[in-house]
Amino acid sequence: MFKETIPGVFQSELLSQQKILHGFSNRLIGDMRMVEPRHKLKELLGLSSYRLVAAEQVHGDSVHTVTENDLGKTVSGVDGLVYSREKVNANVALGIIAADCVPLLLVDTRAKVIGAAHAGWKGTLSRITTNTIDEMKKLGANASDIVASIGPHIGMCHYNVPTERARRFQEAFNYDQKAVTFFDNRWHVDIGWANYLQLIAAGIPPEHIDAPPTCTACQIDNFFSFRRDTAETYGEIMGVIGFI
Ligand SMILES: [Zn+2]
Repeated sequence: MFKETIPGVFQSELLSQQKILHGFSNRLIGDMRMVEPRHKLKELLGLSSYRLVAAEQVHGDSVHTVTENDLGKTVSGVDGLVYSREKVNANVALGIIAADCVPLLLVDTRAKVIGAAHAGWKGTLSRITTNTIDEMKKLGANASDIVASIGPHIGMCHYNVPTERARRFQEAFNYDQKAVTFFDNRWHVDIGWANYLQLIAAGIPPEHIDAPPTCTACQIDNFFSFRRDTAETYGEIMGVIGFI
């Protein structure tokens, strides 16, 4: 389940049960490409004293393991971040921004490892989510202990794609009917589902995964949408995660 537990912030019930500080901002908090809204989000989540580590997000498949040198910085050239509390003992929050792309937050509380990833259509095809879980495993995480929250993203309802892109998703996801569907004379892709399939293939139990009920473009009052916003109204939300 996904709930607006704090005005302007949506939280995953599954991650809340893990006693992990986390949340996804909505558009009321502001454009997360800017500094001030980021401070506001951290404050609302009790993360004010935490050092945020963000990713440049280049629609690629690279994942970075956070070190002492990254605290308070944006890591260039990556779309995934992983952090081990055992290796770097600091108050670290991982942040991922998105507007229609999928922001993912992951935790293995037993191994004390968290992960965050940004998966647009390119990142989804190049398996950024799979790669992020692989890096978490290298830090000691077990797939069966990982809990994952798929953040607000564009739904199949609003995500029609060119035929060539639909074909690539069909091939990449074994012709899964929920990943790629044809309706209204257009091909549609469910990037949330394509990332869910990667979580399942990595060994994460289905009951450890949650996702928002509706799409960013459907919920334009709550979230930013690359497809529905104009140049003037466009912004990005942030998913953030850190250990208590
Ligand atoms: Zn929609």
